[in-house]
Amino acid sequence: MSGAAEPSPEGEAEGRRLVLDIGGTKIAAGVCTPGQPSVRHRATRPTRPRRGGAAVVETALELAREVARKAGGPLAGVAAASAGVIDRATGTVVSATDLMPGWAGTALGPALAEALGVPAFVLNDVHAHALGEMRFGAGAGLRNALVAAVGTGIGGAIVAEGKVLFGPRNLAGHVGHVGHRLGEGFACSCGRDGHIEPVASGTGVVRLYRSRGGSPDVNDGAELRRLADRGDVEAQRAFSDAGAALGEALGSLANCLDPEAIVLSGSLSGVGEYWWAPLRAGYRRQAMDPVRGVPLVRGTLGGDAPLLGALAYAAEFQEEECTR
Ligand SMILES: [Zn+2]
Repeated sequence: MSGAAEPSPEGEAEGRRLVLDIGGTKIAAGVCTPGQPSVRHRATRPTRPRRGGAAVVETALELAREVARKAGGPLAGVAAASAGVIDRATGTVVSATDLMPGWAGTALGPALAEALGVPAFVLNDVHAHALGEMRFGAGAGLRNALVAAVGTGIGGAIVAEGKVLFGPRNLAGHVGHVGHRLGEGFACSCGRDGHIEPVASGTGVVRLYRSRGGSPDVNDGAELRRLADRGDVEAQRAFSDAGAALGEALGSLANCLDPEAIVLSGSLSGVGEYWWAPLRAGYRRQAMDPVRGVPLVRGTLGGDAPLLGALAYAAEFQEEECTR
């Protein structure tokens, strides 16, 4: 580190950053130091997304200021992982699903930079999640992986040669929006029909269960999971078919991407063997011989993954800017 009065770009890149993860359910914040796999001064608030984009930003800024105060001392910047497709150049939310009404168009990066007086970096939450797992979690030491986050929806990220593949429209990695026959006749959150997400996500598996005459009293994946854990055959069959379909989709993707590992996270990755075993079998049915043995592993960082990934992105991006 150089002197405090005029920190060098390298010094800033090594410095602590405020990190945020803005999702449909909650907003998490903390402080991270590059190279250290820990989040300090962690705090969370409910997102309550129905209030609209401006109110969600206000809550995020309040939380950010609170954490910055608690942490004390200078911050080199702020790095945020957010739901939605993110224009990383401007830090703006390009589009978001119905889970966060009014989130599209939010100038999140500029709002954070102005509120905290430091440079702000913003990227998609699943891209950040993948970077976190690759640097510090289940993918540590690997350079090529496919990451799938299977929760309310299905997000994903492709890590190739150590870098997240963003794509020119920041769309790359939308694992949930590949076609699968099980999804035929089910409307997807993206407006298309026949994608894997509406039958294999946490909400999708419930939809699948109900479409087969399952109890209408089951409202979410957690309730369905309790039924399945108690041995309910129809609930287990929904998880098993959803897992198998997702496994087949991942096998097809592995044929295209040649990953060293496939990392699964999100609430469904915590479900038992009645999901994992069909998932692995489905994968092997579609995967070509060279990728058939690729391990399907569970993410290890949980809610810290997007925070640590956002930090890694900001630090690496800033270094890249400096060496250009
Ligand atoms: Zn879709």
